[in-house]
Amino acid sequence: MSAEFNKEIDAAFQSAYHAAKGGDDKWRAVMESYGAEPLTDGLKQELLNSEMKIAKGAFPIELRRVYLKIAEKHPNEAKNFNMDAKVLEYYQKIKPFSGLGDIFQNASTGTQKYSQGLQKAKHSTMKCKNCGAPRLEEMQYDNCMFCGSELFEKA
Ligand SMILES: [Zn+2]
Repeated sequence: MSAEFNKEIDAAFQSAYHAAKGGDDKWRAVMESYGAEPLTDGLKQELLNSEMKIAKGAFPIELRRVYLKIAEKHPNEAKNFNMDAKVLEYYQKIKPFSGLGDIFQNASTGTQKYSQGLQKAKHSTMKCKNCGAPRLEEMQYDNCMFCGSELFEKA
């Protein structure tokens, strides 16, 4: 991988990481500079209220969108770039630190809506293989809403 490619990947990572929770104007400007499409405000709100908690930083899927643009610029270097792994690494860094407490909290504070959702989707709930986000049943999409990883194997 070329130095230039790595530099851009790292710079985007740092910008996303230092952004306010859910992204801010500075991060938006980075996205715009790459021509990457930000999440809509509605979708951001939905993600902020989802069980995929973040403590800070832009959403992983937005970082992925910037990475895709960087990869387009450097197609040769991008061949050896593990997109899912890098996005997951980013997610691990913006997750709230709670250690074991996380598990108990998730078990006890499950909102009514969440358990209703589980009932409804008992046999069809699927989780993202990369970040573990559940696929929202009420919406149609093929890529994880949270990290952007493909949810279905391509035929
Ligand atoms: Zn995901």
